[in-house]
Amino acid sequence: MSDDQRLTDASYARDTPALRPSTPVALSVKSHLVEPRRPVTTLMPTTGALIDSYGRIHDDLRISITDRCNLRCVYCMSEDMTFQPREQLLDFDEIERVARVARGLGVTAIRLTGGEPLVRRGVVDLVKRLGALGFTDIAMTTNATRLAALAAPLREAGLTRVNISCDSLRPERYASIRRRGDLATVLAAMDVAESVGLAPLKVNVVLLRGINDDEMLDFARFARSTGRVVRFIEFMPLDASGEWSRERLVAGRAVFDALNAVWPLEPVDEPGRVAPAERFRFRDGVGEIGLISTVTQPFCGTCNRLRLTPDGAIRNCLFSDEEHTLRDLLRSGCTDADVELVLRRAVWAKFPGHAINEPGFLRPHRSMSMIGG
Ligand code: SAM
Ligand code: SF4
Repeated sequence: MSDDQRLTDASYARDTPALRPSTPVALSVKSHLVEPRRPVTTLMPTTGALIDSYGRIHDDLRISITDRCNLRCVYCMSEDMTFQPREQLLDFDEIERVARVARGLGVTAIRLTGGEPLVRRGVVDLVKRLGALGFTDIAMTTNATRLAALAAPLREAGLTRVNISCDSLRPERYASIRRRGDLATVLAAMDVAESVGLAPLKVNVVLLRGINDDEMLDFARFARSTGRVVRFIEFMPLDASGEWSRERLVAGRAVFDALNAVWPLEPVDEPGRVAPAERFRFRDGVGEIGLISTVTQPFCGTCNRLRLTPDGAIRNCLFSDEEHTLRDLLRSGCTDADVELVLRRAVWAKFPGHAINEPGFLRPHRSMSMIGG
């Protein structure tokens, strides 16, 4: 499949002719970003950075500290979610140990996620412990329902950044997408987070066709008026209900066109930056947005992430079912060298890219909240 085909794939091109790109200027995907073509070497190194067989260095560890959550967002959880027994989750000593070994292998950035990380008791203490390990960045993705009270202690403990999920700016719609919680609490938490220095704030928005895609411009206005970076995330086949479909997905390119038609956008150039979000600023200098087009414009070619699930498995990709379990090893008196070997093997085994757009793609068995988004 060519890159152009990939870009015009999905429901966007089929369903929204009015939004077809008039200026295909900024959203160009270079072929090497989509996925690497062949392994660069066949021998797994046992020293140096965490590298996979395609030469991608992994320096970003996503740690999911719980699979529990106080919300039930329609694109993530089902109403009848069951959760892992607590004793199966890694405790903070175990999480800290994996993080310390990873730090020694060149991991510089940590993101705490879940489930909802702020429902795990003692999270401030965990941030403090991770902060002592010398990471340059300790970020968190949260639904912010409990952030207002925790923002200051988290900042003091060493949290550097926070991404807040918020899929609608209309109270009733917010409640219907997230099934619990309320918008006012989340907006208030954003103010508190900024006031304690967790800024610039990023706001994650999952757009669902026919549900909240009519709010693209409202969110752009929000980004422009608040200085918060709104990141539009494509709906991924990781919902617990198994209701994902391309028809529900709103492609990043459609968002770009809709916004660009009203407030022209230009890419934010960042040589050497590795990140899933394509960044754009409004050409009049007011505000910035990001597009996370995981499905229609995969960024696997530069992926530098590995994940630690709440129950202690290392996953090298959200969309791969392959897991390298650490928990039992950690609980059986292993050495740090054993932990290192599991990390190295997990990274080494990474596929060149996810296969969502290939025939025969199978949804991962575990959904987003069980892996860590
Ligand atoms: N509970 C926290 C929150 O909502 O921010 C952190 C965990 S949540 C799984 C992390 C991110 O994944 C959120 O921004 C959420 O909107 C996003 N997410 C969850 N399910 C998704 C899906 N099926 N497709 C795309 N994004 C999803
Ligand atoms: Fe909970 Fe976050 Fe999933 Fe929503 S997206 S159900 S807040 S884990």
